[in-house]
Amino acid sequence: MNETKNIQQRIIKSSNNNILSKKKPALLAASKGQAIDRIEQAIQSGITLFGENRIQDAQKKWPDILKRHPDLELHLIGPLQTNKVKEALELFHVIQTLDRPKLAEIIAKHLEGHHSSHRFFIQVNTGEEPQKAGILPQETDAFIVYCIKELKLPVAGLMCIPPADQPPAPHFALLRQIAYQHDLQELSMGMSDDFETAIRMGSTCVRIGRALFGERL
Ligand SMILES: *Cc1c(COP(=O)(O)O)cnc(C)c1O
Repeated sequence: MNETKNIQQRIIKSSNNNILSKKKPALLAASKGQAIDRIEQAIQSGITLFGENRIQDAQKKWPDILKRHPDLELHLIGPLQTNKVKEALELFHVIQTLDRPKLAEIIAKHLEGHHSSHRFFIQVNTGEEPQKAGILPQETDAFIVYCIKELKLPVAGLMCIPPADQPPAPHFALLRQIAYQHDLQELSMGMSDDFETAIRMGSTCVRIGRALFGERL
């Protein structure tokens, strides 16, 4: 896949303009709706992180792919219902959409007594959009503390999806500020249309779909 090389070059260029660090963010391929052969092509082109939005779709594709490529890391980047927690933890290595106390509590219960290498990102609804998942900014501080201190969840960082009709930079800045206050290292922010801005503002994980795979049908 030639697109991978192109995106990787743009990532390196933007990393050099990152105001916080020159560290290159991870490239996560958002593979929702992609057939297995397209995903295999992406793997051959060097991508090791993948994100899926729906558990049911992921269950159809990923158990076989992961058998063939055990070193890949699969992230859930779509909303998680509490009745799907068990299945999500069985398939995904990283959950990027932890966004409410009830969900956090159920995850913590499932992990209790198990040795697990799962990692979690808290999704923040930086644009306070009613239809969008994510915890509201004003509730995020308390939620982070609750997840880490009370529930002992391994929270690696924060994730956001800025409103489609606004400049993304203030949203990335807000996410970074909250993460910084809690000493969280990971910032999952930036998609096909705005990943270069996100990288300049400290992203450690860009989630790219269309720019890698082409427009979704
Ligand atoms: C689909 C999706 C992406 C990738 O979006 P593109 O605009 O296709 O790059 C990133 N993050 C999430 C949560 C998504 O659902």
